[in-house]
Amino acid sequence: MPANTTIKPYLRLSGLEPLVIRPETNFVNVGERTNVTGSKKFARLIRENKYEEALSVARQQVESGAQVLDVNMDDALLDGVKAMTTFLNLLQSEPDIARIPIMIDSSKFEIIEAGLKCVQGKCIVNSISMKEGIDKFIREANICKLYGASVVVMAFDENGQADTLQRRVDICERAYKILTEEVGYDPQDIIFDPNIFAVATGIEEHNNYAVDFIEATRIIKQKMPLAKISGGVSNISFSFRGNEPVREAMHAVFLYHTIKAGMDMGIVNAGQLIVYDEIEPQLRELCEDVIQNRREDATDRLIQFAETVKAKDKSEVKNEAWRSNSVEERLKHALINGITDYIDQDTEEARQKYPKPLDVIEGPLMNGMNVVGDLFGSGKMFLPQVVKSARVMKKSVAILTPYIEEEKEKLRNSGAAAATSGAAKILLATVKGDVHDIGKNIVGVVLGCNGYDIIDLGVMVPADKILETAQKEKVDIIGLSGLITPSLDEMVHVAHEMKRRNMNQPLLIGGATTSRMHTAVKIAPQYENGVVHVLDASRSVTVAGSLLSNEQKPDFLANIGKEYQKLRDDFGSKKTAKQFLPFEQAQQNRVAIDWNSYTPPTPQFTGTRIFDNYNLNELKDYIDWGPFFIAWELHGKFPAILQDEKVGKEATKLFEDANALLNKIIDEKWLTARGVIGFWPASGDGKDSIFLYDESGKVNTRLESLRQQLKKAEGQPNFSLADFVKPVAEPAKGKNEEGSDYMGAFAVTIQGIEPHIKKFIENHDDYNKIMLQVLADRLAEAFAELLHERVRKEFWGYAKEEHFSNEELIKESYSGIRPAPGYPACPDHTEKYKLFHLLGGEQATGITLTESLAMYPASSICGWYFAHPQSQYFGLGKIQKDQVVDYANRKNMPLEEVERWLRPVLEYDA
Ligand code: SAH
Repeated sequence: MPANTTIKPYLRLSGLEPLVIRPETNFVNVGERTNVTGSKKFARLIRENKYEEALSVARQQVESGAQVLDVNMDDALLDGVKAMTTFLNLLQSEPDIARIPIMIDSSKFEIIEAGLKCVQGKCIVNSISMKEGIDKFIREANICKLYGASVVVMAFDENGQADTLQRRVDICERAYKILTEEVGYDPQDIIFDPNIFAVATGIEEHNNYAVDFIEATRIIKQKMPLAKISGGVSNISFSFRGNEPVREAMHAVFLYHTIKAGMDMGIVNAGQLIVYDEIEPQLRELCEDVIQNRREDATDRLIQFAETVKAKDKSEVKNEAWRSNSVEERLKHALINGITDYIDQDTEEARQKYPKPLDVIEGPLMNGMNVVGDLFGSGKMFLPQVVKSARVMKKSVAILTPYIEEEKEKLRNSGAAAATSGAAKILLATVKGDVHDIGKNIVGVVLGCNGYDIIDLGVMVPADKILETAQKEKVDIIGLSGLITPSLDEMVHVAHEMKRRNMNQPLLIGGATTSRMHTAVKIAPQYENGVVHVLDASRSVTVAGSLLSNEQKPDFLANIGKEYQKLRDDFGSKKTAKQFLPFEQAQQNRVAIDWNSYTPPTPQFTGTRIFDNYNLNELKDYIDWGPFFIAWELHGKFPAILQDEKVGKEATKLFEDANALLNKIIDEKWLTARGVIGFWPASGDGKDSIFLYDESGKVNTRLESLRQQLKKAEGQPNFSLADFVKPVAEPAKGKNEEGSDYMGAFAVTIQGIEPHIKKFIENHDDYNKIMLQVLADRLAEAFAELLHERVRKEFWGYAKEEHFSNEELIKESYSGIRPAPGYPACPDHTEKYKLFHLLGGEQATGITLTESLAMYPASSICGWYFAHPQSQYFGLGKIQKDQVVDYANRKNMPLEEVERWLRPVLEYDA
């Protein structure tokens, strides 16, 4: 056959899809953010085992155009082999990410090998070198070849890193010869990294580094045309850390030259590449001077310029130049920058300019919001900014609405069909029994920004109401939210009902206790027409987009279906892998506390004490700001986050806004802090019950704890909260011993939020509405923290000398704990009935309990106090039926009812 069957010598890579690098292929972006040495955020996520969120970093890289994904786990605090294995395995089951080839990046070959064992397709190893001699180089190259990987070779030899032009070229040539002649590598599978080093460091020897790299690239490509050139681009601008505008300009200028010289690929922040032509001319010129090393004072001049960029940033000079642009441009500017100052007049001007008021929404407003959506989607804008943009949008729409209604009225009167808006409808609701809605509100705002019509049914919404509304309003998607564990069950119920009603809309699941696993294992099997767990607000947009596109929807759902099937399989196999102790044996392995040498401290009072209208100013100092930023989806530790390279600016603005509103709340007494604490003599029964006594010594309440039942390592106890109270021989007979132990409880709440929320809603101000909700939560937590401190130092008084800073309090450095019913150590929410009964909590604080035992107002917290120094938090883990039966007996509750409450911790299907 005459057909030409020669395979061209191109670098051929693949994930789930092929990536062939042909001579005419443009520069290939290798996404750099999934690198623990380069991204603080990614490092933190991996260290904290938040792999799902870490995957979203990868996804964001892919979405913003990365064609290869660099994965690096070289961190002293990490088990690199394990981290690489776990991450890559997870990543392989995310088809939207695994689509592109992986670059396994490590300086430790064992980590590289671990990575090679995980990837599908043809990957790149980054890197091997002759640093530790030829033998090691050859051995490692052979292994890479065995796995079919392409290799990046660092320009490094026994004498160190190549830092001159000559050494760069020599080392690469030598490595090339060894790889092609001795190891048998195809030349096109060899990628050289001729070392990108920082320029403009102030050290003269560094000034020519960029020029040398560019020249080396040119020569290497001439001598070895099939080999490829790559490098870590952001190294070049390292000395301008923290100054993104300058760094981005340097990268663009550097790439402009290296690509011309033949550089094929580079590790870059895919979302942040800017176009050479769009660099501000003066900055571009200065960068050219530095990159080409063409002026002696190039570095100084760029530094000087950089200072002005920074200064501009900081002082935020009110730049009003945008006011002279066209009304369309002004609306866009206001939307992107979240400026409401001129929205009334600009909207009015646009309304008069356009034929119909609806045209203003569908024209300039939607155009602006599309830009916002794109910037958010590619990680260039953050949640607080988006919520502020939404506020601008809503205010403008509110001005236009009466005119639109008027138009409709006219149309109706003239007999024409009313114009209906074509936007897809999404229904959102917090499920029955749950009162938490910050996350849902945020998702609503973000989806609203993307042009969807949001029907928000609020909190505590029964399944029937959700589904009836969905059918009546013909919504396109239903989204459920919930924070507490009983809500998981309620979501299963809603899915089940959707099937019964033969509905066909996809169902989105979100909220703090929801998970991909629970969605896959428990909810998805109830309903066939699409159940998708959505990690956070930013993901909701892409998910909604895929579900509403007729082309994408089938594939999207098929992929999710496969992924969830795999999760179900994993879940099944994990279940059998666990080892349990029979309940009695677990009970015998209780926490070993030497009660003989312990004198239980006596509290100042027994019974309860109420704190009404607690001074909010005092609470302010006890706020833990960490969760505040998490609520706004800004990631990083407080206060370092305020200086963070990426989100610092936005975080600072947000923090300032928060403090301004907080001061207002305090000065104008918007909210009231109410709380109650109590102490009671208490004895354990040597098992899992705790008996509390009234003044006369009679048993007042019997509390029940659950005990860990998973088999522990040698010497580790099976924890139960009951272990932390001193046991006596016959506790049920009443308080009968001197030196009795005690137990405490508390409930706190922040009241009065509703009228202010209402006002913000009327003002179309989601930003402040969400801000107020988040702050109320913070104040409630701060109140719990402050009262606990007073309990330790004063009311129970077992740590009178304690002196902790707020950070130390947040880190729980103190002695004793305050576990909350519904949390991992005590997941049974129904013990809350006893807690509230003991405290007279509903009356003392105004908190009410819903049928799922959520507390209303949402900013409420309750818990138990334990004083023993060995008391600690733990997670119960799964428990077996023998314990559940015993527990139900002790609680005098029907087994099925107990099982319903404990479902998330049951080891068996009930
Ligand atoms: N500083 C945080 C504190 C709240 S989270 C904030 O402001 O948001 C910590 C609280 O959760 C603890 O005080 C305790 O009440 C509860 N908690 C944490 N882990 C727990 C566990 N394993 N079992 C029971 N309660 C737990």
